[in-house]
Amino acid sequence: MPSMHELMARISVDPDGGRAIKEPATGAVLGYAPVHTKVDLEKAISSARSAQPAWEFLGHAERSRILHRVADRIEEASEALAELLGRENGKPLNGPNARQEVGACVAWLRATADIDLQPEVVRDDGEWRSTVHYRALGVVAAIGPWNFPMMIGIWQIAPALRMGNSVVVKPSEFTPLSVLALIAVMNDELPAGVLTAISGDRELGAGLSEHPDVAKVMFTGSTATGRAIVRSSAANLARLTLELGGNDAGIVLSDADPADIAEGLFWGAFINTGQTCAALKRLYVHEDIYEKTLAALADFAKQAPMGLSMDENSVLGPLQNKKQFDIVAELVEDAKERGGRIVTGGEPATELGELFYPITIVADLADGARLVDEEQFGPALPVIRYSNVDDAIASANRLPAGLGASVWTKDQKLAQYVSDRLEAGTVWINSHAVPHPDVPFGGVKASGYGLEFGVEGLKSLAATRVVSQPIQGTAQGA
Ligand code: NAD
Repeated sequence: MPSMHELMARISVDPDGGRAIKEPATGAVLGYAPVHTKVDLEKAISSARSAQPAWEFLGHAERSRILHRVADRIEEASEALAELLGRENGKPLNGPNARQEVGACVAWLRATADIDLQPEVVRDDGEWRSTVHYRALGVVAAIGPWNFPMMIGIWQIAPALRMGNSVVVKPSEFTPLSVLALIAVMNDELPAGVLTAISGDRELGAGLSEHPDVAKVMFTGSTATGRAIVRSSAANLARLTLELGGNDAGIVLSDADPADIAEGLFWGAFINTGQTCAALKRLYVHEDIYEKTLAALADFAKQAPMGLSMDENSVLGPLQNKKQFDIVAELVEDAKERGGRIVTGGEPATELGELFYPITIVADLADGARLVDEEQFGPALPVIRYSNVDDAIASANRLPAGLGASVWTKDQKLAQYVSDRLEAGTVWINSHAVPHPDVPFGGVKASGYGLEFGVEGLKSLAATRVVSQPIQGTAQGA
């Protein structure tokens, strides 16, 4: 069981050769991340290319066995990894945070290793047999964000490796150390060159995604960067999975019991202190239960301590970086100027530290307010009153984003009515932001395209090879 300092010793570089990474909760320097160059990028791609064929030819069963061993290593190092993640990202150890994220890495790796993907016979009519085989693509680029750096990293890496690809990872410049440490641990089991990380800024990410030897880009991040990657893919024709920004709506119907659903709504919105792609980002509540829902949410907030990442009592932490803090503060100020009623929070929690913003619930806003229309990606939730469910559905669908959505009701028929009409990649009923490794996940509209997880996720990391043959004694050619 390594300590965090032992992990750091494997990845951190000298101060003069690296970029200082500060802990968002305290401002203390955690370590120094390497700043890789274009030459390093070329080396990483070239070793990924060399290592890939042998990895592919190990076959599914052997790769799955190795991925389970990788999961064992992560489990052994889980406490050290959680501490590093908590310090670097700011997320607390407990609650739906650092320890849970490391646990999810293990769970997704094991589930991905165990998915059965057999060749599919798609024609067998007595004359011909045609079979679809799923083969590796080659070198996959994995480019990730800072909010769940390890878990989203694994979401990209695990299916790519399982399918026999090699992977070059470019972590977010805000949280490189967590990902570098995770990859160092994984590489204790993987053959050399199969999984490499390069650490650097946005330009390095661009260099990786547009590289001619990259067959597929797994990208999770903002819609703006997603568009840049789509443009660069015109040159290398890389396949893309794009998990982009969201602005998930939840619709609470009049029959829901606010006391029963408060916990689900709260964590749906404030998981990872609101810094979650598929978190609830605007909540539409029927006028009959509007005030009760606001009160239940505010009550729940009182029992969810916000504090330092390393404090075992905290379940909410700081914003990860100043840019995100400023976005949240600005959107809340704008909401106040438009007559938004602050039910709880509403001012920075500077007593905790520079980047802390408390759980903030804002009532009496309408569509068009910036806090409703723009992705806040933080602990501020607009709660909008509605009287007609079709109007609420229209409001939910009026924005370009289409990642997740939810409907909250005891009436299964009404839940079906609403979910049939919501424009989102996932609609949760009486829950929100609950992914599972066997259940496909992906956005529609400006939230991106391509699916992760489950069989669909494996297929998206594969090239299909169709093998067709006439059955003996019948047709011989086209
Ligand atoms: P970002 O787009 O700024 O950065 C993501 C990554 O892309 C970073 O590693 C960055 O260095 C790299 N990058 C930047 N420019 C690039 C380019 N031109 N080519 C290639 N790579 C480039 O996103 P972020 O601020 O780290 O993350 C926050 C955003 O991510 C939010 O909008 C959030 O909704 C979204 N997100 C989506 C999901 C999802 O599954 N849909 C999950 C998490 C976060």
